[in-house]
Amino acid sequence: MEPDWIGFPRYSKEYVRGIKAFVKNAFPLFCVGEEMKCPCKICNNQNWHRRDVIYDHLIYQGPSLLHVQWICEISQTKVNNSTDFMNCETGTEFGDNLQAMFNCTSKRFQNVEDGPNTEAKIFFRLVTTISRLQQFFSAKFFD
Ligand SMILES: [Zn+2]
Repeated sequence: MEPDWIGFPRYSKEYVRGIKAFVKNAFPLFCVGEEMKCPCKICNNQNWHRRDVIYDHLIYQGPSLLHVQWICEISQTKVNNSTDFMNCETGTEFGDNLQAMFNCTSKRFQNVEDGPNTEAKIFFRLVTTISRLQQFFSAKFFD
């Protein structure tokens, strides 16, 4: 049965709460990297988007009619209880999605932990090199 919120206007608190629950539950299960397929009216599960973009699409454009029921199911699912997924339509894909979830988690860690630090180190090294070069040239030509 569809929950009440899907019938509410898209700017209502109930609808926003439902979409938030969907995005929160769906993302760990269906994302690849930082993105998952967007089930909004325009994307129709064809385009990949980041979490915040999908949230915006579902609020401003509304869900694709083909995916309303799926969105409702996911929004009501408790992610920790994975056996629920085996009983619904998406059950057959669960193994793949689980793998995607692990990929997603490890990629996210890389981005957060390594990325900025490495870039910062390279930047720092560049700045140090440039200031040494400046010292070298000013010593050589202006003494
Ligand atoms: Zn979309």
